[in-house]
Amino acid sequence: MRKDITVPTTITPRRPAPIDGTLWLTGGHVVDVLGGTVRRDVNVAVADGRITAITGTAPAPGSRTVDLGGRYLLPGLISVHTHLSVVYPFSATDEDENPGLTAMRALSRAQDALHAGVTTIRCVHEQHRAELLIRTAAEQGWVDAPRIVGAGRAISTTGGHGHGSACSYADGFDGFLHAARTELAAGADLLKIFITGGIAHEGESFTGAQMTPEEMRAVVRAAEEHGSYVTAHAGSGSAIREALAAGVRGYEHAYELDDATAKEMAERRVFLTPTLCVTRCPDWMAEHSFSSWQIERATQVGPGHLDSIRRAVAAGIARPDDPGAPGITMLAGTDYPPGEPIEDTVVAVREMEFLTDAGLSPEQALRAGTSDAARLVGLAGQAGAVEEGLLADLIVTDRDPLSDLSALRRIPFVMQAGRIVRDDLPAAAPAAAAAQTRTGGTA
Ligand SMILES: [Zn+2]
Repeated sequence: MRKDITVPTTITPRRPAPIDGTLWLTGGHVVDVLGGTVRRDVNVAVADGRITAITGTAPAPGSRTVDLGGRYLLPGLISVHTHLSVVYPFSATDEDENPGLTAMRALSRAQDALHAGVTTIRCVHEQHRAELLIRTAAEQGWVDAPRIVGAGRAISTTGGHGHGSACSYADGFDGFLHAARTELAAGADLLKIFITGGIAHEGESFTGAQMTPEEMRAVVRAAEEHGSYVTAHAGSGSAIREALAAGVRGYEHAYELDDATAKEMAERRVFLTPTLCVTRCPDWMAEHSFSSWQIERATQVGPGHLDSIRRAVAAGIARPDDPGAPGITMLAGTDYPPGEPIEDTVVAVREMEFLTDAGLSPEQALRAGTSDAARLVGLAGQAGAVEEGLLADLIVTDRDPLSDLSALRRIPFVMQAGRIVRDDLPAAAPAAAAAQTRTGGTA
């Protein structure tokens, strides 16, 4: 895979090297997002990018430590509907833009997200497959970025929803099969299609289908050839039912969902990313050059969108202890760049709050942005929880987010794969630091 990217080997990595040896995060409370409980007053050891111990025993004197001071330790956030390269307003998109410029715009968004505590993202359409370029650059150690799972370019029909957004364009079974295989050959981890219109373009409807069942089957076929899956931008129930029959496993937005479709989605155990931000943030849209028509339309769709997601919740949420049972896996994804500031937080966190408005408990909303999202992006058992052996993708909050999700609004510490990418924790008090030095000296 990634055959189109040639990596020179003579460039010296600029990124700081990983921490050598073991680093201890001491005096914290570990939030178990799977069990919905808190393990109090523990010390967490990190080495070689992974969590190596969670223990009540104090680290050996002289160990390297970061004092969490009774704060809460959670897995890094995973945001699963991201567009890093998007241009606002959409009409300003230049499909012939220099790919270098596209990648730099996307990289700045990726780094904002990482700094905000989003340690993994799933991109579901990027101009010039910018996220796959950033992933390569990050793997080489040239840049800091969240861990990236990407769809490359979304595949749209001629004149369909993605028209003008630098998508891949195709028609018919053979056209979609070729377009899908092209994205996969370029390194895409999944495939993204538009099965209906959206709400951002005048004259477009999200109720009518924009792909034929055989076009959907072509994309599913290509995904299955690579052990992958398809996710669909989906406005309404009728198109979703066709996509369910074609084998599409992921659904984005779901502006208008009826009970019968929601029930079938639960029976087929699909993944649903509501992106409630899209219809609930008129001020943010106004600040980002959306037209008054677009803002009005989004706001109009908002109440129906929320009701639709409430119907999905009522149809049954997948359970972490029994992922094989019927139920929809609800996920946190924003459509906007996830590290963008909004209403005194960032959109990745605001979306998790919106999910509680749709009926998820704080615990379920946390899972939507951590452990359940890890399952979607192929990182189950690797990330999405604070457990021994998992990647040390970690964030810190002052308060317990299980009792109040707004605790996520302040994330003073971010670690990715054992590297500290943000540390705004207050410095240890001089007395405490002196005590630690003394302890170290008498070992
Ligand atoms: Zn999107």
